[in-house]
Amino acid sequence: LQQQHKPELISEQRGAGQGQRRNVVTEIERIKKNREQQRQLHAKLKEKQLHIMMRQGNPNWEFLNMINQYRSRIVFRPLQESDPVEDHQITVCIRKRPLNKSEFARQEVDVISVPSKDEIIVHQPKVNVNLKKFLENKCFKFDYVFGETCCNELVYKYTAKPLVQTVFDGGMATCFAYGQTGSGKTHTMGGNFQGKTQDCKKGIYAMVAEDVFKFLKSPEYKDLNLTVSASFFEIYGNDVFDLLENKARLRILEDGYHHVNIVGLTEVAVDSMDEVIELIERGSIARASGQTSANRNSSRSHAVFQLLLWTPGTDRIHGTFSLIDLAGNERAVDMNPPNRQAKMEGAAINTSLLALKECIRALERRGGHIPFRGSKITLVLRDSFIGEKSKTCMIGTISPGMASCEHSLNTLRYMDRVKEHRATYKQRT
Ligand code: ADP
Ligand code: MG
Repeated sequence: LQQQHKPELISEQRGAGQGQRRNVVTEIERIKKNREQQRQLHAKLKEKQLHIMMRQGNPNWEFLNMINQYRSRIVFRPLQESDPVEDHQITVCIRKRPLNKSEFARQEVDVISVPSKDEIIVHQPKVNVNLKKFLENKCFKFDYVFGETCCNELVYKYTAKPLVQTVFDGGMATCFAYGQTGSGKTHTMGGNFQGKTQDCKKGIYAMVAEDVFKFLKSPEYKDLNLTVSASFFEIYGNDVFDLLENKARLRILEDGYHHVNIVGLTEVAVDSMDEVIELIERGSIARASGQTSANRNSSRSHAVFQLLLWTPGTDRIHGTFSLIDLAGNERAVDMNPPNRQAKMEGAAINTSLLALKECIRALERRGGHIPFRGSKITLVLRDSFIGEKSKTCMIGTISPGMASCEHSLNTLRYMDRVKEHRATYKQRT
């Protein structure tokens, strides 16, 4: 009986394997087709938009026309799924989101072009003294630039994914999303929004967790018997709020050994994806709650999701992956804050983002002074800025609309400075 069943079983397995492979192939084809359709749709929409704007006498149609003309001369070579993933200690990249429905409805002009996998152009509208309209086209270069048709999976592949290895090798990994409110930080880190509901399985938090579990079970690392725990908190000004415990307010303490501790922070042991997704969902809902209140809003706080790998039987951390959805940077550069509180908030966010930039630059320098006391976020992430094994990735998110042009330029300049030091450092050695 057994003999009779055996071949069947094998053929069943084979069948399943081939089926899976076929599924993967059709899935890739489907994604490719989707992207191409999306691209064509966007091109068509832009063309249509130009005609509508002209007909309605929208003064920005001239800018859109100039941008379209500029674009027609570009040979677009966007990032391809087959492009190699480079190994950097610090990866700096940009993601442009598509214009959304309300921006289309407002007839916003898309002023951002992504000609290649590492370049981005801002077509800044200008008017000269004779009221003649012209464009100032500013080009920036980064490790990667993700265009509007890139999905979270592709962004993940080139940003946080390579850092999973770092954590298993006993290092500290950090991945930041930096940008203006509404530019796509939470969409990238926490997961796609479909309307107001978020698909947490499609965010970088979840994708990192998924790969961490894969590594745990791999032949290379399973003998380490590492265990995983997760925490999720928010930093607002000088305060820390526990997103897994009703936003309980917590204190940061430093012990005699310079260990930085968040006293009473909830840390949940996790060993399945379902558990992680539940935590991400719970924390994201907690973060978004109370958003409408005048004095607290998620765009003014930094959210930190951490996965910690523990060596069993000890209280030793093997490695940590910290994923940070930073506060909106527009407040940091707002020249005319409406009131005193907004001004103080803006100043605090500014200080923390500048401290962060300096700490990342110090990581690249390896050694020397690390100004991690400059803000709470850098204090909490202190250990991530030291050590040869630490790796960092920053994703700058960009809103494509003309109304966001100044903010987009600010984001690009900041991101450029995070990288700038590395360029000069490399030249010198
Ligand atoms: P932030 O966290 O930077 O304030 P969000 O992530 O909340 O911004 O994004 C604002 C809106 O834009 C959301 O509705 C989101 O779904 C949408 N969005 C952001 N990035 C993308 C993207 N890459 N593709 C499609 N929609 C996006
Ligand atoms: Mg957000």
